[in-house]
Amino acid sequence: MKVELTTVGKVLTRTSGYLDSLTSHSLNPYRGCPYGSSLCGVGCYVRHNPWVTRGRAWGSFLEVRQNAAESYLAHVSKERRWARRHRSDFSIFLASSTEPFPPQESRYLVTRKVLEAMLNEPPDFLVVQTHSSNVVDQVDVLHRLNERCRVQCNVSIETDRNDLPELPNHGSSVEKRFDAARRLKDAGLPTLITVAPLLPIADPDSFFQRVAESAHAVCLDHFIGGDGTPDGRRTRRTRLPEAMELVEPSSSELAYRGRMERVARRHLERVGVGAEGFIIRC
Ligand code: SF4
Repeated sequence: MKVELTTVGKVLTRTSGYLDSLTSHSLNPYRGCPYGSSLCGVGCYVRHNPWVTRGRAWGSFLEVRQNAAESYLAHVSKERRWARRHRSDFSIFLASSTEPFPPQESRYLVTRKVLEAMLNEPPDFLVVQTHSSNVVDQVDVLHRLNERCRVQCNVSIETDRNDLPELPNHGSSVEKRFDAARRLKDAGLPTLITVAPLLPIADPDSFFQRVAESAHAVCLDHFIGGDGTPDGRRTRRTRLPEAMELVEPSSSELAYRGRMERVARRHLERVGVGAEGFIIRC
């Protein structure tokens, strides 16, 4: 994978599309994603975004936006004013098209520096969205930030299976991500497990019981309706639906989400579905 040191003009982006109903802004400390070559990368909707990939294979590149924290501080006042005027609050989704805690974060600390910048200039609400257990390295700064503004940690765990037939392994194991969610929750951080996109679950009752122990809430999202197309046609072009059907017939159909939602409700009070479910409603 090619790692390139770059700079970004404006790291705060006003949201549109899927995120529009969730937060006023998104913030991507990196462009590209090393997990693009792992299981989550197969169905990742960002791989279909030519503005991000610029013709490169998804998972083959990572641009390190070295000045992300400086860019945040340079634009935060103006963007906060805009958000409070045009939206209900100044809220940030970290991150919408990359993993904020890739293995390279331990070397470059780009996301860490952004979080530290937010301590001085906090948004009203921060949603941290991650597929990586490395998020626990930032529990201290997230905890401090949670005293300055509302913070919510979303950990993606799409299945209890360690693999699907003929697809790559997870970038961060199921076990480690459950542990990470539990540590965030135990640290007092509002924690949501996003089962998104929903993949076939081997033992649904045990899975959602574990979700209930590891987080305050859960959100389920199927690739149909969740990949930016109403019928999941983007994902249908990938190997993901076929692999899902091999282990759980009909799991590539939207009705599977309803079946899993009913199991989830046996174990958790707060169960969200679709884009709206990515925020814990108080
Ligand atoms: S970690 Fe997120 S951005 Fe990266 S490949 Fe997986 S789903 Fe896509």
